[in-house]
Amino acid sequence: MTKVLVLAESKNGKLRNVSFEVLTVARRITSGGEIAACVFGSDGEKYFEELAKYGAQKVYVVDNEELNRYTPDCYKQALLKVIGEVQPQIVLTGHTSIGKDLFPSVAARLNAGLVSDCTDVETGDGIVFTRPIYSGKAFQKKQITDGIVMATIRPNNLEAIENPVAAETIKLSSEIKDLRTVVREVVKKATGRVDLTEAKVIVSGGRGVKSPEGFKPLQELADVLGGAVGASRAACDAGYCDYSMQIGQTGKVVTPDLYIACGISGAIQHLAGMSSSKVIVAINKDPEVNIFHVADYGIVGDLFEVVPLLTEEFKRA
Ligand code: FAD
Repeated sequence: MTKVLVLAESKNGKLRNVSFEVLTVARRITSGGEIAACVFGSDGEKYFEELAKYGAQKVYVVDNEELNRYTPDCYKQALLKVIGEVQPQIVLTGHTSIGKDLFPSVAARLNAGLVSDCTDVETGDGIVFTRPIYSGKAFQKKQITDGIVMATIRPNNLEAIENPVAAETIKLSSEIKDLRTVVREVVKKATGRVDLTEAKVIVSGGRGVKSPEGFKPLQELADVLGGAVGASRAACDAGYCDYSMQIGQTGKVVTPDLYIACGISGAIQHLAGMSSSKVIVAINKDPEVNIFHVADYGIVGDLFEVVPLLTEEFKRA
């Protein structure tokens, strides 16, 4: 019987939605097998009910103060401990900053195969993971045929479906030792805005926005839609906005329900970060730009005229 272990992630005292998406993937893979989830940190137990709602039959909580903040050293020790306990065939998590950092080192330690940034998972003759390659120009199907299978799943890409089960919590004490790095303090930027990687709507600005002030109408539209504001690298490089907003190959990968690209030409490196958005709207004054090839809806016009009009319309709706 296949045993799957899901590393669930919390942020600001809440489980991240991607954890539920990954549990849904786990269900697809096990088809009747066992699903275990693990959470780290001293508030881990409070997530038990939510994890059980999405199908986790066993919830392993590694309660140690060192795990309240992520460091690769301590998370690696904790995850190896849980893997030793559960003995899963498959270990999954979200393709988040933590997943991207932690899973390769744990896979290397276990000599396990790792497939990262999966956008689909099929079962049948083994488990086949689909992941984008060449900045999203093509998709690769990968199968690990030997040993433990590890994979990170792209957030916001596969639907999280509830499947409540009776679950039990198992508390594991973990001695975290020989830490090479210790996080003393995390100073968060108090934006009060929606997290870009979790946003359902993203209004994104490129070089066409022309200045930091040019982002204001985009922010107004995002606020009306309950979304977040992103940017192309050109806009970040030009100093119009912070690099934390960059979307693309060397920025964040996002999969919102609605992506509104304003004054963005659609370079392949930008598309790598947003082309799997469910609906793409492009606003650009040049009808020939590449972004219109990937957009579901295109508006040829000046963004400084179009964006405020959209904001007004959405306010009325
Ligand atoms: P431009 O290509 O200059 O496009 C600006 C657009 O604005 C034009 O299409 C113009 O018609 C339009 N415009 C101007 N004024 C208006 C107006 N008033 N109204 C409407 N439209 C207007 N880029 C990323 O975005 N993310 C990445 O992660 C990334 N990683 C990279 C990694 C590497 C290794 C390299 C080499 C490049 C990377 N880039 C990345 C850069 C990428 O190649 C492009 O240079 C960049 O995406 C262009 O940004 P842009 O579309 O905003 O600018």
